[in-house]
Amino acid sequence: MKVPVLIPKIFNYPFTYNSDLIKSPQLGDVVVVPFGNKKEIGVIWDKIHLTTKKINIKKIDKKLEQYSFNKNLISFINWFSMYNLCSKGMVLKMCIGDINNILKKTPIIKREQNTKRVYKLNLEQQNSLDDLKKTGKGFKVSVLQGVTGSGKTLVYFERVKEIVKKNQQALIMLPEIFLTNQFKDRFIDYFGYEPAIWHSKITPKNKRIIWQGISKNKIKIVIGARSSLLLPFNKLGIIIVDEEHDSSYKQDEGLIYNARDMAIARASFENIPVHLVTSIPSLETFNNIKNKKYSITKIKNRFSEYLLPEAKIVNLNFSNLKKNEFITKETVKLVNDYLNKNEQVLFFLNRRGYAPFVVCKKCGYKHSCPDCSIYLTYHKSINKLVCHHCGFKSNKSRKCIKNKELCDFNTYGPGVEKIFDELKIKFPKKIIKIFSSDYLKKKNQSKDIFNDIINNKINILVGTQMISKGFNFPKLNCIVVVDADFSGKGYDLRTTEKNIQLYNQLSGRAGRFSNNSLIIYQTMTPTDETLKDILTNNPEKFLVDELYIRKKNQLPPFSRLISLIISSSTEANSFNGALEIKKKLVCVSELQILGPVNAPIFKIKKNYRTRLLLRSRNDYLIQKKIITILENLKISKKIKLTVDVDPINFT
Ligand SMILES: [Zn+2]
Ligand SMILES: [Zn+2]
Repeated sequence: MKVPVLIPKIFNYPFTYNSDLIKSPQLGDVVVVPFGNKKEIGVIWDKIHLTTKKINIKKIDKKLEQYSFNKNLISFINWFSMYNLCSKGMVLKMCIGDINNILKKTPIIKREQNTKRVYKLNLEQQNSLDDLKKTGKGFKVSVLQGVTGSGKTLVYFERVKEIVKKNQQALIMLPEIFLTNQFKDRFIDYFGYEPAIWHSKITPKNKRIIWQGISKNKIKIVIGARSSLLLPFNKLGIIIVDEEHDSSYKQDEGLIYNARDMAIARASFENIPVHLVTSIPSLETFNNIKNKKYSITKIKNRFSEYLLPEAKIVNLNFSNLKKNEFITKETVKLVNDYLNKNEQVLFFLNRRGYAPFVVCKKCGYKHSCPDCSIYLTYHKSINKLVCHHCGFKSNKSRKCIKNKELCDFNTYGPGVEKIFDELKIKFPKKIIKIFSSDYLKKKNQSKDIFNDIINNKINILVGTQMISKGFNFPKLNCIVVVDADFSGKGYDLRTTEKNIQLYNQLSGRAGRFSNNSLIIYQTMTPTDETLKDILTNNPEKFLVDELYIRKKNQLPPFSRLISLIISSSTEANSFNGALEIKKKLVCVSELQILGPVNAPIFKIKKNYRTRLLLRSRNDYLIQKKIITILENLKISKKIKLTVDVDPINFT
């Protein structure tokens, strides 16, 4: 008998094999097949790939009895590949990772029981839980919206517990890896045992244990980052997507996909409910709530009944700041009220390093990356200039063209290190620490700083975006956004949306145990409408306005965008490659093709980048037409094509 076998490699179709050597071949069986002059492990797929080529059909060697893929997962992989315009083989590869590792035997691990704490839901939480239960057991998307600190986690933990009682499995997705460790403790507290945590950085051994445990329905609950949505669950009963608005759900490298959207798709293939959890929904989700495609339940008050921080604007236009000074007198005065009470203050600036550029006073030279078209950031801690795209490092000193001496550099703009220096001068007696990825590279470093924050051994924190996510610092009652921007200018249509989400997350870090907390926005644009919405605690007004603008301009979610980046080592090849691809695509009449244009970051890692932006209506899947064209494209070896469906970053 002839059967299709999908191999976890670049191919978008299964190969045909003869199954005479194995007993009763079934869809989803894991098999060993000859491939080229090697052996490969593949999966028996659903449809034979028709080809006019004459092929020599080889025999399947053997079947691996211990695992198989279920039909839902196979359908999902097919759909995933079509939707994201990537090959089926590569999706399968993401699904099984290192297959030889997965297949090794694992000793049975006894699960340690910890003491559970008993939690009781308050009335609002109970009502939301009841709403979620009402959605039933079939496919349905519902949104659990609640202000930061309202106890949403507890609500969905209850929901998960109930699903697991029925001997089904649950997947809880979180946007970032580092979140999972703090999350773990809450999980143990509630469920009384360690959760299975899945992300790309766990050890091969853990991957094996979890993969096998899930496939055999021994593991009931997985907490996972993006890639967990392709795990081989056999009895999945629910998916929870926490912080659904978070743009980290978009995988930007390798296989490009949006894990939130794919989680919804997986739930539909499994025919199970999916809950999106957030404090302010993403624009897409908000639109689907408005259209009644998704149901919603809201928690309006914080669990602890402490109020959200009060917001205050400091106008940077009239602040008389000196050169290289970024913290105003007004801010210092407000902050001192908190420091004097021995409470913590956080200064937030989303820029690593000391300064985003350095310029020579004499000749005007600006350091930029030799391999990327961006300026180098000066990092004082290592006294080096660093490219934030490729990691290139160089020294600052350079011979000046004005005279034979060295260039004399001025630094422009602030980074967290510069703010740190300024704070040391303004608050000389306080203990100040930087909280950014550069300073938390080692495991112990982050543990120490965490403990110091929680035990109030640090007075002032200077942090980047990293600090806005999910942390609970009891003594933190005042936050200063050093450089709040609501302008929404730039090439990214989501800048404003991202900033609103960011400031909302950030303000949720303050006042967990106090009714007197404050968030200060230092800004050049104090009269901006968006800022007003934030101050009146009415972010939904922003969503309504933004949806209106998107509709007027036919932007997502009112249209579908697909970005094609064509990169090459020369400018000409990149541009001509894009032209070639455009020529092939013009025959799709429903498609509007914008470009080719230089990508906003024109050069990354020595490669020039040209962009085509495809726009179509959003009510049907244009990918079905594009995929055949891309499949038959004879792409020159000199160029690389990257496809991004529903792009979030436009760099
Ligand atoms: Zn670079
Ligand atoms: Zn110079």
